[in-house]
Amino acid sequence: MTSKVIDLRSDTVTRPTDAMWEAMRSAPLGDDVLGDEPTVQELEARIASTLGKEAALFTPSGTMANQLAIRSVCEGGDEIIAHHDNHIIHYETGGPAALSGCMVLGLDGPSGMFEADQVAGAVRAVDDHHTRSRMVAVENSHNRGGGAAWRLEDFEAIADVAERHGMHVHVDGARLFNACVAAGYSPAGFARRADTVNVCFSKGLGAPVGSALVGSRALIARARRFRKMFGGGMRQAGVLAAAAIHALDHHVDRLATDHANARRLAEGIDAVDGLRAEVPPHGWRTNIVFFHVDPAIGGAADLAARMTDAGVAVYDFDPTRIRAVTHLDVDADDIDRALGIIAEVVATSRS
Ligand SMILES: *Cc1c(COP(=O)(O)O)cnc(C)c1O
Repeated sequence: MTSKVIDLRSDTVTRPTDAMWEAMRSAPLGDDVLGDEPTVQELEARIASTLGKEAALFTPSGTMANQLAIRSVCEGGDEIIAHHDNHIIHYETGGPAALSGCMVLGLDGPSGMFEADQVAGAVRAVDDHHTRSRMVAVENSHNRGGGAAWRLEDFEAIADVAERHGMHVHVDGARLFNACVAAGYSPAGFARRADTVNVCFSKGLGAPVGSALVGSRALIARARRFRKMFGGGMRQAGVLAAAAIHALDHHVDRLATDHANARRLAEGIDAVDGLRAEVPPHGWRTNIVFFHVDPAIGGAADLAARMTDAGVAVYDFDPTRIRAVTHLDVDADDIDRALGIIAEVVATSRS
């Protein structure tokens, strides 16, 4: 019996592998604010090219990358069209309003997805009375949507509408690589119709810290200035960029393993009486599993707390649902062990 906690709270909890530490230790360093950080520059060139864009900016967080996109594109009073469950609305402390003076219009739809017609219906007519519809923001994969990945054609139909109205298309791709591996498109293939994309190295890719914003050279130059304004200029950040480069080299294809483990977890959860895993759209399971808790067992918060005490750390997502996330630091044996613990906790909850 090992007592290691199986931490399924988030894919942010991974620790650097020995090889990643070695890459960090041996990275050439400079001062990125002074403009001579070779490893940051290497990462920025690499991620821009991976996403088929002119330029990239390394940021301390995905939140900052999203907010820099908004600040670089929008004026005060502008409106952003997004799904109401998007990260920029739920988890960025009102950043669009506070940092850029923007309104966000939240659209409805299953699993964090919406349709081109909804965007067309939401765009404001150009009129002195109206806010200016300036940006459409899509999240891929969708966190609060249970890790759902967008179909390329659905996203491109939205980009068509945005283009017709002169609107900027931003993709919050904190887990874009997960979506690509599950759905079978390439990062550049998905990003083709996006003006800006945020990707996180600190989620499924397993780096300790860091994200990037990619886009046109002019827009990234503007974002670089706002990054300094927001206090996000990092000096010898090559230590972190090296981890991200290592992750791009070694941790992208292996995301398929996280997805297989998530599927294994979802199937095991379905076999537990009183629990039911949500099925992602198009059958594309990424690394997030949401499951429903039968009220006869208790509330999700209570069950999540008991699972965590028993050695499977998870968060309750709402009163009846729990979220579990697979990642680099859990393997199939851990999933099987987690399932045993979950079944035991549920069995004792009923008695
Ligand atoms: C995690 C996440 C972010 C950024 O989070 P940070 O903690 O700021 O790096 C942005 N969007 C989505 C969808 C996320 O899951």
